[in-house]
Amino acid sequence: MVKAVVGACWGDEGKGKITDMLAADADIVVRFQGGANAGHTIVNDYGKFALHLLPSGSFNQNVTNMIGNGVALDIEQLVKEIEEVVSKGVPRPNIVVSERAQVLMPYHRLFDTYEEERLSDRQFGSTKSGIAPFFSDKFAKIGFQVWELFEEDRLKEKIKNVLEVKNLMLEHVYHKPLLDADELYATCKRYAEMIKPYVIDSVKFMHEAVKAGKTILLEGQLGSLKDPDFGIYPMTTSSSTLAGYGAIGAGVPPYEIKEIITVVKAYSSAVGAGAFVSEIFGEEADELRRRGGDGGEYGATTGRPRRMGWFDCVASRYGCRVQGTTAVAFTVLDVLGYLDEISVCVGYEVDGEVIRDFPTTGKLEKAKPVLKVLPGWKTDIRGITKYEDLPENCRNYIEFIEKELEVPIKIVSNGPARNDIIMR
Ligand code: GDP
Repeated sequence: MVKAVVGACWGDEGKGKITDMLAADADIVVRFQGGANAGHTIVNDYGKFALHLLPSGSFNQNVTNMIGNGVALDIEQLVKEIEEVVSKGVPRPNIVVSERAQVLMPYHRLFDTYEEERLSDRQFGSTKSGIAPFFSDKFAKIGFQVWELFEEDRLKEKIKNVLEVKNLMLEHVYHKPLLDADELYATCKRYAEMIKPYVIDSVKFMHEAVKAGKTILLEGQLGSLKDPDFGIYPMTTSSSTLAGYGAIGAGVPPYEIKEIITVVKAYSSAVGAGAFVSEIFGEEADELRRRGGDGGEYGATTGRPRRMGWFDCVASRYGCRVQGTTAVAFTVLDVLGYLDEISVCVGYEVDGEVIRDFPTTGKLEKAKPVLKVLPGWKTDIRGITKYEDLPENCRNYIEFIEKELEVPIKIVSNGPARNDIIMR
């Protein structure tokens, strides 16, 4: 049985927590896209962790955690994260890496930084982890799959060829120091040694796991609105954030993905540039940011303050739709307990017309939020474990949003810890 846990909007919905929780009953957790450019925050019995590349099943000894072929594999970062969790007392996680995953090279990070520098005030707000240059190279067919690190002669030759074009760019476009082939070769040899213990034939591994009826969780990074096809292009990420892509990035038959759990946050937050229709500002935003998530809404990777907004029905419904959602996990609801009234964005006004379907980026940039105000519940709902025990206004909020989303909310999260959860 394959399930996917993915995000509905801009990311930071609390996917890490939901995956960590669901991992208790899983055999395998797979990262199928993205890289170390975003983070998951996980709070469990071992403490609080910011994971960037490690799958969220890393705290469960019975789980095999796979870095799928769809991931931008930053070998140094992966090994660093493994050592970090081990040093904090977590039993050594069981990690495997697809031999077809591609390797993020040190120059990808450099090119990311140089390009943002060149763009100056038009920059994308990249985390500069090299993700965009990495995926550009993958599809330009000048990337390196993991297995290539182990084929010395071929590797040497390829490095020479790839650096030819990289150095032309460095010299003529960015005016930066050139790359040295011998140095890169030495780095690749080092990477080969570091990654060797983890490398597997992931196609065979997944095929056998599916055949044996194992429970497999596909773990998404970011959310629908950051998808390069369906998101707020070009202010998106560089690999697909959708459950459907899990079939490719993890290597499972598409028809085996039976459950798609989309994580939806009870209000909105976003990082980076791009249209954000229900965004709020000033003191109202500061307060929500301060109270949000677990200790404030600041990026897990960058520490940047997140942009804040009211719940956006238009974006979230669309986000659930493009994921192919079978159930919603509705998170961070406890945070809203301080508000007398809660605004919800129920439509977009574009050129004098109110729309309910999420538009393409040009129209999105012109959209003004149509807000509806719902009564707050003014209590702390943490610790509640039964749906019926939630205050009436809180249930009304959930049920209003469920109707808007057009998919059932089956999980409600009312706190950052593993057991702050209400199953419906
Ligand atoms: P992810 O990338 O989707 O995993 O999300 P992040 O980890 O970046 O952000 C979610 C933040 O919210 C983390 O700090 C979590 O610990 C926290 N969190 C998750 N669920 C809840 C919840 O129900 N209530 C509260 N207060 N915090 C939560």
